[in-house]
Amino acid sequence: MWYCRVCGLAYDYSPWGEDERTPDYGICECCGVEFGYEDFTPESTRTYRQQWLAAGASWLQPKQRPVAWELATQLAQVSPAYR
Ligand SMILES: [Zn+2]
Repeated sequence: MWYCRVCGLAYDYSPWGEDERTPDYGICECCGVEFGYEDFTPESTRTYRQQWLAAGASWLQPKQRPVAWELATQLAQVSPAYR
């Protein structure tokens, strides 16, 4: 599993590539981050996360949001390096 650096959403593949250095520039369906852009550094990742949280932490694609979704549980999945 791979977890979004911003919001912690679980992916069954790495949008940053197997080497974690070749992002596919896809968009996280939860926080809307563009992989390889706003999550390029820990600092830019934290900045984007703060803006996303301040805006209400809404899903980019609401239909993908699980019924029993819990923000705190998902955020806990963020890699320590990007918290
Ligand atoms: Zn995300």
